[in-house]
Amino acid sequence: STQIQLVSRPEGWPTHEDFRTVTVELPDLQDGEVRVRNEFISVDPYMRGRMRDEPSYVPPFELGETMTGGAVGRVVESRSEDLPVGTPVLHQDGWRDLTQGPAKEFTAVQEIPGTPLSVYLGILGMTGMTAYTGLTRIAELKEGDRVFISGAAGAVGSAAGQIARQLGASYVIGSAGSDEKAKLLTEKYGFDAVLNYKDAPIRKQLAEAVGKDGVDVYYDNVGGDHLEAALDVLNRHGRVAACGAISQYNNTERTPGPDNMANLIKNSLKLEGFTMGDHWDIAEEYLSRMTEWFTSGKIAYDETVVEGLDHAVDAFLDMMKGANTGKMVVSI
Ligand code: NDP
Repeated sequence: STQIQLVSRPEGWPTHEDFRTVTVELPDLQDGEVRVRNEFISVDPYMRGRMRDEPSYVPPFELGETMTGGAVGRVVESRSEDLPVGTPVLHQDGWRDLTQGPAKEFTAVQEIPGTPLSVYLGILGMTGMTAYTGLTRIAELKEGDRVFISGAAGAVGSAAGQIARQLGASYVIGSAGSDEKAKLLTEKYGFDAVLNYKDAPIRKQLAEAVGKDGVDVYYDNVGGDHLEAALDVLNRHGRVAACGAISQYNNTERTPGPDNMANLIKNSLKLEGFTMGDHWDIAEEYLSRMTEWFTSGKIAYDETVVEGLDHAVDAFLDMMKGANTGKMVVSI
């Protein structure tokens, strides 16, 4: 099995020197075990946090050990009746081509004709579920709400915009880092408006775009200037789902907080962070609703696919820099 390991803890932006590729001999299967060939592995922003030696909601990657993360593949050898050869499975042994272990560590997924298994890492997987959880459980989205979503062209953001619409949002505005992304989101994903945050300060652009109608819900993937911009325009009893703060993940200096936190008080706002670890019980509800929307053609999705395990680190870095539209995955 070819595997990627973290060998040093990056300061600021990770570099190739922080990783190495190793080849590992896999032992024969034991009773109850399966061997899986990965087809797609996921690269996600939270993995940057795991490269730090700091307590967080997922433990740090160990130096000199193979990294883990979401992956989908197919059983190629089996000593378990539960998962015969050929079964497509979702699991956490990413960053490698071949893996094996007890069948209970792998979840069989339904193959959707004409759709790559990678959807189980994105729109039908963790990132889509994150968008749904943030909107329903954290922001308590109601019909008629006006919604702002940052990082709107990414995996979570592009799902959030469409889910908000399905749940009855009256107006959905997003932000993204290029005009091409903004155009795609309005034309294909049904956003009412999308701001390119690189054009001018997001605080100014957002206030102008939403005017006196403001927004009722802010889905925050970015933090920093975007959170500050949202706090300026949230209506009374507005809600913020704090999902991510990607503008800060590679910072080496302390970042200033929003200067308008007092708006929380003035406008009786609610700001609540969450991580999926506390919400896996939503999976069944999410999958049933999203599968219906998805198979009836109500949901668009894009993926950025990078070919080859040897480009996995590049894929991770490119995703952090915004090279992706929709979910970034590595095909193996
Ligand atoms: P994305 O697919 O959204 O990829 C990351 C995107 O972030 C890039 O495409 C880039 O798009 C944008 N970006 C990078 N730097 C900046 C910046 N300085 N300012 C604004 N945008 C920036 O990743 P995911 O969908 O997987 O994750 C989105 C967010 O959700 C992350 O913050 C992540 O940590 C969080 N998350 C949280 C979870 C939870 O349980 N709470 C679970 C999963 C994800 P652009 O071109 O627009 O700049």
